[in-house]
Amino acid sequence: MKKKRLFWQLYPSFLIIILISVAAVIWYASNSLQQFLLSRTAAVLEERALILEKDVAGYFSPVDTKAVDSVCKEIGSLSSARITVILPSGRVIGDSQENPGIMENHLNRPEVKNALANITGISIRYSKTLHKKMMYVAIPVKKNSRIIAVLRTSVPITSLDKELQSIRVKIAFGGLIAALFAAGISFIFSRRMSRPLEKMKQGAEYFARGDLTKKLNISGSEEMEGLAKAMNLMAAQLNDRINIVIRQRNELEAVFSSMIEGVIALDSKEQVLGVNQAAAKMFKIDSDKSRGRSIYEVIRNSELHRFVKKALSDEKPEHDDIVIEHHDEQIVHTYSTPIFDAQKNSIGILLVLNDVTRLRRLENMRRDFVANVSHEIKTPLTAIKGFVETLIHNPFDDLNEVRRFLNIIEKHVNRLHAIIEDLLNLSRLEQENDNNVIKLEKKQINSVLEMAVSLCRERAEKKNIHIELSCAKEVTAKIDSTLLEQAVVNLIDNAVKYSNTDSTIHIEAFPTDAEIIISVKDQGIGIAKEHVGRLFERFYRVDKSRSRELGGTGLGLAIVKHIVNVHKGHVTVKSVPGKGSAFMICLPIY
Ligand code: ADP
Repeated sequence: MKKKRLFWQLYPSFLIIILISVAAVIWYASNSLQQFLLSRTAAVLEERALILEKDVAGYFSPVDTKAVDSVCKEIGSLSSARITVILPSGRVIGDSQENPGIMENHLNRPEVKNALANITGISIRYSKTLHKKMMYVAIPVKKNSRIIAVLRTSVPITSLDKELQSIRVKIAFGGLIAALFAAGISFIFSRRMSRPLEKMKQGAEYFARGDLTKKLNISGSEEMEGLAKAMNLMAAQLNDRINIVIRQRNELEAVFSSMIEGVIALDSKEQVLGVNQAAAKMFKIDSDKSRGRSIYEVIRNSELHRFVKKALSDEKPEHDDIVIEHHDEQIVHTYSTPIFDAQKNSIGILLVLNDVTRLRRLENMRRDFVANVSHEIKTPLTAIKGFVETLIHNPFDDLNEVRRFLNIIEKHVNRLHAIIEDLLNLSRLEQENDNNVIKLEKKQINSVLEMAVSLCRERAEKKNIHIELSCAKEVTAKIDSTLLEQAVVNLIDNAVKYSNTDSTIHIEAFPTDAEIIISVKDQGIGIAKEHVGRLFERFYRVDKSRSRELGGTGLGLAIVKHIVNVHKGHVTVKSVPGKGSAFMICLPIY
């Protein structure tokens, strides 16, 4: 039901009160007036009757009815009142307006009865004789204390009624004017009472809409002013608190969104309370749209779903790795902690996600590396052990056989030495790079290449491989000449190893727009496409036994890649199986 405004509650109430009051006053006033007029008329009639009593009593010794009647008629003609004389028997013997002979017995008239009982009788009723409403006043006429007759005076009260009616109309008119006046005043009062409340309501609506800077300016009663002040104070305090909350929320959001770790807050019904930018980026979701929705709907990752279920049911911190599959696999270490409200009730969980993809890859690489190293070392060691044991337990007479065994042992020892040498080289490189001790200087590339070629020439000549070097003297780059020399030696060494006899290796160095290219091109066995991507991994070899046979460690190209990285360059391969390979070291131009 629609509530009425305060004004429309107050004003009609005032009007009703006014109308009831005015009606009551009119009713009371007109009644009092009527009583007054009637009692005055009765008093006048009684007075007249008392004046006449003596005259009438004179005609009662003996009773002279005619004289009584004529006295009545005579005096009656002089006054407006009707005069009637009635015997105690009820017979009318004189009347100023009628022939008593035809008048009925009046004994049953109430005023007559009272008069006969020695009381002044007053009665108002309709006269059948005169066909008017009359007031009758009857007094006893006494002789020697004996009631000998009843003298009754009466007047029609129709005129009195009319008079009373006109006075009533005047009173009602006055009352109406007073009521209108009161209605006007009560209208003003109602407005004055309801207006501050209306203003208060408007102010409260402003506050409710969030405009807490609005000030209520209400004048009126002390209570209203006090209430307005209290509301203003409340709004100001609320505004301050809201500002503090907003500031804190903004600070929290800033912290939240600038965190590198992904953060997801969930309520106990698995609905998202908040997702920071890092987490949104990890799962490729919109953080704003995810709020209030189920985590299962927002993030489609079964590992995360399982983790959330466990974390919510356990109500204790959990952690686990979760794999996110987009185009690249991403490993996220996820921690969960329960969230509690002020009453220490668990209301959800907070997930903190750390991208550990690189870390896990490094761990894997390290693990693989250790396994590879162990494997690589184990093979020659097992061989050495076997041959040494054979030599110890089976003393050979044939020295040639012993020499053959020792040669094999030497080969494996050399291999071990080569592996350890390469590993040491790699770790030294890593260490020097980490400690920033590698200093790059602008130097001629030609001299580096010449030195590398001279180091490999002997091995090449053994296979009748011709090395051609083509590099202009002015080609320079910022390099560590020892390291670059080692990289080029490794490439030439491979070119020699994986080339057939009687072939040529072309070594070139030339500048392009953006880089200096050092290319080592052979006419060897080449490399199949599927191996090209993994060639620079440690211990990766296309043909293990062939590499071992040729004295390879599987670390040569890994060292090349590392050295080139130290020079902020990159290394690429172009190869056609059966035709040859070209390895290119690209160094930046400074
Ligand atoms: P390795 O000591 O076995 O030569 P590297 O790291 O130097 O190890 O090379 C890795 C692998 O790459 C080799 O085992 C070989 O299969 C291949 N490779 C390297 N250089 C060449 C090349 N010039 N021609 C053909 N294959 C090559």
